[in-house]
Amino acid sequence: MRRLQLISTLLLFSTSRNMAWRSSGSSNAELVENLRKNGVFSNQRAYDAMKAVDRGDFTSRDPYEDAPQRIGYNATISAPHMHAAALEYLQNHLVAGANALDVGSGSGYLTVCMAMMVGQTGTVVGIEHMSELVELSTKNIKKHHSEMIENGNVVMIDGDGRQGYAEKAPYNAIHVGAAAAGVPKALTDQLADGGRMMIPVEQEDGNQVFMQIDKINGKIHEKIVEHVIYVPLTSRDKQWSHHH
Ligand code: SAH
Repeated sequence: MRRLQLISTLLLFSTSRNMAWRSSGSSNAELVENLRKNGVFSNQRAYDAMKAVDRGDFTSRDPYEDAPQRIGYNATISAPHMHAAALEYLQNHLVAGANALDVGSGSGYLTVCMAMMVGQTGTVVGIEHMSELVELSTKNIKKHHSEMIENGNVVMIDGDGRQGYAEKAPYNAIHVGAAAAGVPKALTDQLADGGRMMIPVEQEDGNQVFMQIDKINGKIHEKIVEHVIYVPLTSRDKQWSHHH
C-alpha cells in the first residue's frame, strides 16, 4: 500500500507540467509549509498570512491540494502556489497601513491574506462582478475573520473590476485574479506612486503572462515574471449568461 502510494506520487512529480499537486498537504498548515519548502515563496509575512487563513473556509472541495477549485459561476479559487506567488511579489507593498485592491476577489481567500499583511491600520478592497460570489466570499470571510469586515480592513464591493474602485484609490498594491486582454487604464491610474500591480495578461498568441507593473515617479515600468493560466477578466454576461 505504502509502496504503491510512493510510486504514484513519483509519477505525478515527473509528469506534472505545472507543478499542481506538488505542494499539496493534508491540512492548511502542511500545504503552506510545503509551498515554502518547495521554494514557491519565502517571505515570512506572506507565509504567516497564508498560515493564518484556512483555505478550507473558502472552498469545501479539496482545499489543501495545490490546485485551483471551482467555486461556481465559471470562477475558481486560484491554486495555492499562485496565491503564494502573488503575495511574494507584493510583499514590499502589502505593509502595515497599506491600501490595496484585489480585482476579481472570487472566494475572498486572497483578499483576507492581503488584509493580514496590511494589518489593522490597512485596508483591502475586494471587487467582484458576480454578486453571488460577493455574498459567498463575505460569508466565507465571516467564518473566522468577521472583525476584518466590522473594522473596515476588508471591504467587499460588487462591481466591474476593470474600472478599479476610484472611491478608495490610490492603491499601494493591486492584485488582479483574472486575465485581461490588456492592462485596464483605470487600474494603472489608481496605482499609487511607488505602488505595484500584479496582473495576468493575455497575449496575442493566447498565452497568458503574469505582469509586474510598478509606478515610480509617475512612470509605469512593466515586467513579465512568469507564464500563468487564469479565467478571463470579462463582463458578467460573457462569464455567466442567463441560460445557465
Ligand atoms: N482571487 C480569486 C480568483 C477568482 S477567479 C480567488 O482565488 O478566489 C477570478 C474572478 O474574477 C472570478 O470570481 C470572476 O467572477 C472575477 N471577474 C472576472 N471578470 C471580472 C470583472 N470584470 N470584474 C470583477 N470581477 C471579475
